[in-house]
Amino acid sequence: MEKVRHDNTLSKLFSPIKIGDVTIKNRLAMAPMGFFYSSLDGAVRQEFNDFIITRAKGGVGMITLGDAGIGFTSLEITVDSAVQRRMIKAAKELVKAVHDHGVRIGVQLNHSGRQLDSPIPGYQLIAPSPIPWSKRSEVPRKLTIEQIEKLIEKYVNAAEKIKEAGFDFVEVKACHGYLLSSFISPHSNRRNDQYGGDINGRARFSLEIIKRIRQKMREDLLISCRFNGSDHVREGLTLEESRELSRLLVEHGVDFLSVSAGVHGSYPVIIPPFYIPQGCYLHLAEEIKHAVRVPVVTVGRIKDPRMANEILESGKADIVSMARALLADPDLPIKAQRGAFDEIRFCIGCNEGCQDRIAGFETTCLVNPAAGREKQMAIVPANKPKRIMVIGGGLAGIEVAKTAALRGHKINLYEENDRLGGQWRLASIPPCKEEFVELLHYLLLQLKKLGVTLCIGKRATIKTVEEENPDVVVIATGALPLKPQIPGIEQQNVVTAWDVLANSVHIGKQVVVIGGNALGLETADYLASRGKDVKVVEELEHVGRDLGPTVRWHLRHRLKELGVSILTSIRIVEITSGGVLMANREGKSIHKSFKTIVLAAGSVSRRELVDEVKGMAREVYVIGDASNPRNALFAVRDGAELGRKI
Ligand code: SF4
Repeated sequence: MEKVRHDNTLSKLFSPIKIGDVTIKNRLAMAPMGFFYSSLDGAVRQEFNDFIITRAKGGVGMITLGDAGIGFTSLEITVDSAVQRRMIKAAKELVKAVHDHGVRIGVQLNHSGRQLDSPIPGYQLIAPSPIPWSKRSEVPRKLTIEQIEKLIEKYVNAAEKIKEAGFDFVEVKACHGYLLSSFISPHSNRRNDQYGGDINGRARFSLEIIKRIRQKMREDLLISCRFNGSDHVREGLTLEESRELSRLLVEHGVDFLSVSAGVHGSYPVIIPPFYIPQGCYLHLAEEIKHAVRVPVVTVGRIKDPRMANEILESGKADIVSMARALLADPDLPIKAQRGAFDEIRFCIGCNEGCQDRIAGFETTCLVNPAAGREKQMAIVPANKPKRIMVIGGGLAGIEVAKTAALRGHKINLYEENDRLGGQWRLASIPPCKEEFVELLHYLLLQLKKLGVTLCIGKRATIKTVEEENPDVVVIATGALPLKPQIPGIEQQNVVTAWDVLANSVHIGKQVVVIGGNALGLETADYLASRGKDVKVVEELEHVGRDLGPTVRWHLRHRLKELGVSILTSIRIVEITSGGVLMANREGKSIHKSFKTIVLAAGSVSRRELVDEVKGMAREVYVIGDASNPRNALFAVRDGAELGRKI
């Protein structure tokens, strides 16, 4: 979008909006998210309520709970099951707690259709036509007209329960390729009955649901519909048709519309990572806004409240909805309202803790390790302030220093380099990753505010520990690049990926990157973007195993466009002065010429101080990569957890 001067008061964002008889205190909404804080019987766990109430306290105007299930597809609020009564009682309590903060709340109703992520024994996926969403997924069963009728009734019954629980609105989810969206999209709907054909037929399922909810509820419950401005797949829903769809939805009774994009398998993915620009779906909302006269909600990697205000000022949407930005910082709205933008812990679009959940934890956040564990991770003042020496100023060291200082401990943080940040600074160098450095800006400001003593450019030794004589030593010295045992590894033409990203070495035109992990692929992207001819060689069958699926999908796409070739199941036998000798699984070898050989073969912990320091302080801890080299999510998590424990 064009540059607009920032309004630091964000007056538009924090102005109320009235929809029907309901006034929403501001125009910053929390978008529905698919959490995993619930049991399989649909019972909502306390963590879910804590998560929602923390966001309500943080000052959003409106919250939509994501993906309440119709039929078998519920993993969260089951509004249509044997546990209904208990659920309604629990929901009433949640609604009240949210209302107590002056925040409006609604529930999104969804049936996953053919895109159900985890198979349920004995249950066959359903869809408008027997077309699986990917080559590897199950062929769904085509719904009959009687079955569609029954499902419409289920949606209406669910909406009644939502009203009974006291929610302000129900949102019919007709986006992202799930059941209703799969009917709307020509990509997945090949029917030739009244539920197929043109947009009137394909939208009929959704329209009937909305019409009947409206008939039953009169004006007592607001109705929203979330739909795709574009499916972003071949033969999918286009913006032109979605404009027509928006008019039909309004005719059938919706009070406001929410415009998203994408289906499973689309490019960009539904929840795009940092490779896709912020505000990526705004143009879709803008077009819909021209087509209808009800409020339009926009969503899609909007993380900065100043950008949200600009969007509203420009008239392209009426409400801005954020999801990951509020996972990253639940207090973003109140911080923005008082103009404290440098206090905001911005989402960096990594998808590691939320969408891709690469560490296997329940939904969480790389920059906010308390997300999903709000009560458990509350900051409690220390009983007895201690003198803590933190050795290493990467993410783990900084996070532990910040957290322990918040609790009242006295911290001296040692970093041998002349800047804090460690490997995280390198992680922000590859293309499109500039946002990563925002986390560092936030953390460094916190260290300053908390009065953490920074000993920068000073290498901590045993002597330093002796002199300091702290109560606690935390070793967060990180890792070093691993040098695999390959003949010729000491040749002049061999450099590490870290050297490349630090721009500290000369790189020739023809480059081979050894290692197809995240670091190898991102370094290949960096080099290819600078005009180098790059090949990536990986010993295993697949590359990017340490990347989440959304980031991997986008990075592979970039590498293909840049002409980077990726060779898998190939072993490097020897490095020579002119290139590398490689062998495939069958042992067939070939020599290829390269000017520069880049190592991205992993890393090893730096633990040289660990044994010596043990016994020098009452408590000694080793965290982050110094404990075990893993990605940044673990480093921050280690620091956050230890900082709460000391
Ligand atoms: Fe944003 Fe990454 Fe946190 Fe997800 S894990 S909310 S993408 S910072």
